[in-house]
Amino acid sequence: MNTVDYLRISLLDRCNFRCTYCVPEGTTLPYVLPTHLLTAAELLLLLDEVFAPLGLTCFRLTGGEPLLRPDVVEIVRAIAQRPYTRDLAMTTNGFFLAEKAKALYEAGLRRINISLDSLQPEVFDQIIGNRGRSRWQQVWQGIQVAHQLGFDPLKINVVIIPGVNDTEVLDLAALTLEQNWHVRFIEFMPIGNQDLFVDRGWVSSESLRQQIRDRWGLVDSTVQGNGPADVFQIPGAKGTLGFISQMSECFCDRCNRVRLSADGWLRPCLLNETGQIDLKMALREGVPLTDLRHQVQTLLHMKPEINFKARASGTSGSYSRTMSQIGG
Ligand code: SAM
Ligand code: SF4
Repeated sequence: MNTVDYLRISLLDRCNFRCTYCVPEGTTLPYVLPTHLLTAAELLLLLDEVFAPLGLTCFRLTGGEPLLRPDVVEIVRAIAQRPYTRDLAMTTNGFFLAEKAKALYEAGLRRINISLDSLQPEVFDQIIGNRGRSRWQQVWQGIQVAHQLGFDPLKINVVIIPGVNDTEVLDLAALTLEQNWHVRFIEFMPIGNQDLFVDRGWVSSESLRQQIRDRWGLVDSTVQGNGPADVFQIPGAKGTLGFISQMSECFCDRCNRVRLSADGWLRPCLLNETGQIDLKMALREGVPLTDLRHQVQTLLHMKPEINFKARASGTSGSYSRTMSQIGG
């Protein structure tokens, strides 16, 4: 069983996109009130006094859309400067990246994942639920700016939905041929928009790999990350191809992460709400930090059992929160 050393931190549950696979169509999500969000000071106190002492020293900032948070650059700077921080990354939809990438880089961020499900602006806009002026160009521009600044690794996250963007697998994989980018295909999960999942189904990583293998060949990458992705490479390509196969494979035994929601709930497993702790409420009620540390330590010990219970109950159950609310 892996050591849990990786904390995914949701900075905000709101998002400026409504990706069809993430947010159920026609629903109004109950956003966390600003006063119920974990403040930057509360977050840093938890990192200093609870998480880092327990060995959680790799962090990913996510959301909702993390770049909507006004103090995102200050949060990045503070975490990057902590002596215990071994790794700091961000997952973003990239819409504000062209504007914010430089400040983020200067604040110490180096690793970035940008979601881009299509290279065709119309398909992209359809996926993100945009009916106005196309937003594809702005996201693409953000990726270029991040690349020029030297973000490394620069990863592109893709969710393939049958009948929507499944004809673009090779075009998206081809982004790794000339650039040192890492394209990661994430299997569509029935979290958030379960109607779309039932309607369209999902595509397995292996069937994506087969398409790529048939076109160029595929070899194991020499660079394997510390996360759940299986990493491959098109022979001779500059970048890599990662496959996150939580639907077709069980990687609970490799899971090294827990999640902190924007309103301060610590969640041990993406698929299971058992055992969550409301850290923000505990902080605001003055629970001693040593007690909180003890509670979190107990939760980390329970995590393997929680993971496997979620897996055993099947991944097609129903989830009360979307990925944007959990902090995907
Ligand atoms: N807004 C940011 C973004 O889109 O990159 C960060 C949050 S988003 C919830 C994080 C990741 O979760 C994205 O890469 C997105 O593609 C993925 N995601 C969201 N809903 C998903 C689903 N139902 N199945 C698989 N991946 C999903
Ligand atoms: Fe899309 Fe990310 Fe926003 Fe979800 S949180 S709607 S995946 S941009």
